Amino acid sequence: MPRDRTDGMSAAAETPRTNLLGLPKAELESYVAELGSKPFRARQVMNWLYKRGEGDIASMTDLAKDFRAQLVQRAEVKLPEIVKTQVASDGTRKWLLSGEEDRGTLCISSQVGCVLDCSFCSTAQQGFNRNLTTAEIVGQVWLANKELGWKVGDDRIITNIVLMGMGEPLANFRNVIPAIKIFLDDLGFDISRRRVTLSTSGLVPQIYKLAEEVNCALAVSLHAPNDDLRNELVPINRKHNIAELLEACWHYLDEQNGRSVTFEYVMLDGVNDQPDHARQLAKLLRGKPAKLNLIPFNPFPGTQYRRSPQAAIERFRDELMQRDLIVTIRKTRGDDIDAACGQLAGQVTDRTVVRLGSKTFGLQVRA
Ligand code: SAH
Repeated sequence: MPRDRTDGMSAAAETPRTNLLGLPKAELESYVAELGSKPFRARQVMNWLYKRGEGDIASMTDLAKDFRAQLVQRAEVKLPEIVKTQVASDGTRKWLLSGEEDRGTLCISSQVGCVLDCSFCSTAQQGFNRNLTTAEIVGQVWLANKELGWKVGDDRIITNIVLMGMGEPLANFRNVIPAIKIFLDDLGFDISRRRVTLSTSGLVPQIYKLAEEVNCALAVSLHAPNDDLRNELVPINRKHNIAELLEACWHYLDEQNGRSVTFEYVMLDGVNDQPDHARQLAKLLRGKPAKLNLIPFNPFPGTQYRRSPQAAIERFRDELMQRDLIVTIRKTRGDDIDAACGQLAGQVTDRTVVRLGSKTFGLQVRA
């Protein structure tokens, strides 16, 4: 599916774009023929791609006009993204590349508002309204899938579900567990257990309970490498400290045969983003079945925090990687409609966000 368009849901119903870089001559010729053009067009396209280095189909000026228009619509020249470039003193260059994964992640809510009062989260500011019912939680996925043209099986658009919207899922245990069962059930949404992720701020007793009830991926909002700082950012830490929390995580993996827990870490300028924090964090997680996901802070009105500069985030990541940790930086998506992490709040009482490749769909549910 076209990943580079932002024109909303209509695109979801279209067939995937063909990446021209994946077609050798014979295949490009039959592709061109399928579009109703002469085989020599394939030669022209290859000339643009491989002799002239043109990646923009619209600029391939000697292609017949309507053939070009068709190509622009149905094909693409899609490149891996350069994450990092290094040049050695002898001139050797090293590029770190990443491809856009073909996945669509639906981020759903478990509560209207939240009781937990994390200082950097806008949901906290609206306070707690109520738990969502199981039907309301499942309904978010059902509705999103319906809006996207109801694709299931190999055609599915929603490939991953994350409980990272509003609320603390483990504080609504009773309703969240049956919803997760429906996401996983092959008679239900039939999503694999590694692609359904429950994110928690760290309700330790409920993590133990979770281990007995369902088998899904676990993410934990860590955000600080020591108890002093975490007490401030994630106040539930005063009840269940980092050591207890980590123990519960490893127990969860043991019980579930899980590979790793993802630790979320919001990057707050000057608060938790210094090299020393990275070193402390590495000490905490080194050699453990852990992945770290750094989340650039998403600001909201009235917040005291600022997002760490990109350079600080990358330096933080590098400090961790040098210490053998697996680290990713979360791509911020949907912030122009307040749909990014931690921005779900306001007059509308519940929002569900679908993130699909580079596209983001938002839908709002009034409670
Ligand atoms: N209550 C659950 C799930 C909700 S939030 C939990 O705490 O994990 C999903 C993720 O977004 C959490 O890691 C949360 O800490 C993070 N988050 C909250 N506010 C944010 C903000 N303003 N910017 C970036 N991430 C934020």
